[in-house]
Amino acid sequence: MRVILLGPPGAGKGTQARHISGKFGIPHISTGDIFMKNITGETELGKKAKEYLDKGYLVPDEITIDLVINRIREDDAKNGYLLDGFPRNLNQGEVLFQTLEEMGDHLDAALLIDVPFEDIKERMEGRRICTSCGASYHIKFNPPEKEGVCSKCGHKLVQRRDDHVEAVEERLKVYEEHTKPLISFFRKKNLLVSVDGTKGIEEVTEIILDVLTEMDNKDNNE
Ligand code: ADP
Ligand code: AMP
Repeated sequence: MRVILLGPPGAGKGTQARHISGKFGIPHISTGDIFMKNITGETELGKKAKEYLDKGYLVPDEITIDLVINRIREDDAKNGYLLDGFPRNLNQGEVLFQTLEEMGDHLDAALLIDVPFEDIKERMEGRRICTSCGASYHIKFNPPEKEGVCSKCGHKLVQRRDDHVEAVEERLKVYEEHTKPLISFFRKKNLLVSVDGTKGIEEVTEIILDVLTEMDNKDNNE
């Protein structure tokens, strides 16, 4: 199964991706996580991405596209993957389609987690992420068992480097201008599935897993 997760920053893509990836046994490929890890590790890629990410801008396509195309060609992605944070503009969407065509593969769905902007800021401000496994929490909506400590691996939780006010404002602008047009792009290709992301985390998970399970069963019966 090859699925794309769409939605504004803070919609809950990373949170839901962990459940989907576990249930269907497909890798969760998050461009945001890849950039963050490279920035923390001070790699060459991290050095290139840092200034864009910290300001809330998109990392240029020349860097991002090759990274993703190489990643989906890896062995663990042969039977599918979940793309979280890619594509993020129309050019990335077009290149992904061309590449899949060349590889003889196709996408199964673009899953939009629909959350209005008024809910987004509170989600991003309260987000805390694990410095080791990347798990995402929320101080109010999804608190860890022990404050400041990851319930999954016991490492420290921190605020994301781009969850400060200026970067959040910029990321919302970038979403509106560059990423939102992908909704009609995927709708035209009959791939768009929209779910109400304003509900609680568990309820959203249930809806998404139901939709994808039905799709997967249909696929297997064809
Ligand atoms: P994204 O990957 O789309 O940027 P995250 O999955 O990191 O978003 O979620 C952003 C923040 O909102 C996190 O703090 C997360 O715990 C919280 N969150 C995710 N889904 C929900 C939900 N359905 N209701 C309330 N808070 C949520
Ligand atoms: P995310 O974790 O998905 O919110 O991504 C964090 C940041 O990484 C974004 O604000 C961008 O700076 C960068 N980024 C992630 N995915 C992409 C992409 N597909 N294209 C360009 N930049 C990206």
